[in-house]
Amino acid sequence: MPARVLILGGTGDARRLAQILTDMGFATVTSLAGVTRDPLHPVGGLRVGRFGGAEGLADHLQSERYGAIVDATHPFAARMSRNAAMAASITGTPLLRLERPPWTAAAEDIWIPVADTPAAVSALPSGARALVTIGRTEIAAFFSRADIAGVARMIEPPESAVPQSWSLLLARPPFTEEAEADLMRQHRITHLVTKNAGGAATEAKLDATRSARIPVVMIERPCKPRATTFPEPQVLAEALRDMLSP
Ligand code: NAP
Repeated sequence: MPARVLILGGTGDARRLAQILTDMGFATVTSLAGVTRDPLHPVGGLRVGRFGGAEGLADHLQSERYGAIVDATHPFAARMSRNAAMAASITGTPLLRLERPPWTAAAEDIWIPVADTPAAVSALPSGARALVTIGRTEIAAFFSRADIAGVARMIEPPESAVPQSWSLLLARPPFTEEAEADLMRQHRITHLVTKNAGGAATEAKLDATRSARIPVVMIERPCKPRATTFPEPQVLAEALRDMLSP
């Protein structure tokens, strides 16, 4: 019987990996945190909800007897990655990480690197009109500054009320450079605020800022524990097949 693989998901790459592993004959279970109200469902098995820390995940790994665990969470999901590393070590389960490389600035880019969301809020000058694409959980920090405005783009609406000076835009990637440039022109955007998520699906906003000479407040990735890391699903799936084949 092929080994079962637990995929810690919540990303497009995790869904692609579930498809590739299923096509290879693996039984996969994708785990979602349950924070998105209407998530896109991967093929294969699905479990939704928190594990209860590293120990809860270790219990789950032990009772479900997975052959391997793949951390395919978002580069900014640092706590889940820490828990995965700890639970894998407690249970002796092989751990692989799927993580696309970060974006890097081209010579003509104007990037303002910052460590986290509060630093991104502080980096915006008074009067800025920002396109903020950091998701819904930390967006309220931008709304609390009365001297800035702009567009908050996310997949699902935030919990907090959106001030009148801000436009809320609900949209799912991928986006094109032309549409991103139009959006920035239409809203007279002076700054882009983004996490350094990497990947092609949301890269067009960076291309649009480059041609319009718009500065980018770039939130750098948090540190994650060391793990064997693959940049894209196909390569990881092949390594897993080699590792788990009898
Ligand atoms: P996080 O801060 O690292 O995790 C917070 C807690 O949520 C974890 O300790 C864990 O709870 C639970 N959790 C996270 N991912 C989980 C998963 N795949 N399955 C089960 N439980 C999970 O993570 P986050 O930044 O809140 O992200 C949550 C989810 O959204 C992740 O699956 C991530 O891939 C996805 N996502 C995040 C971002 C982002 O910018 N952070 C962007 C796009 C998608 P317990 O400790 O109780 O087990």
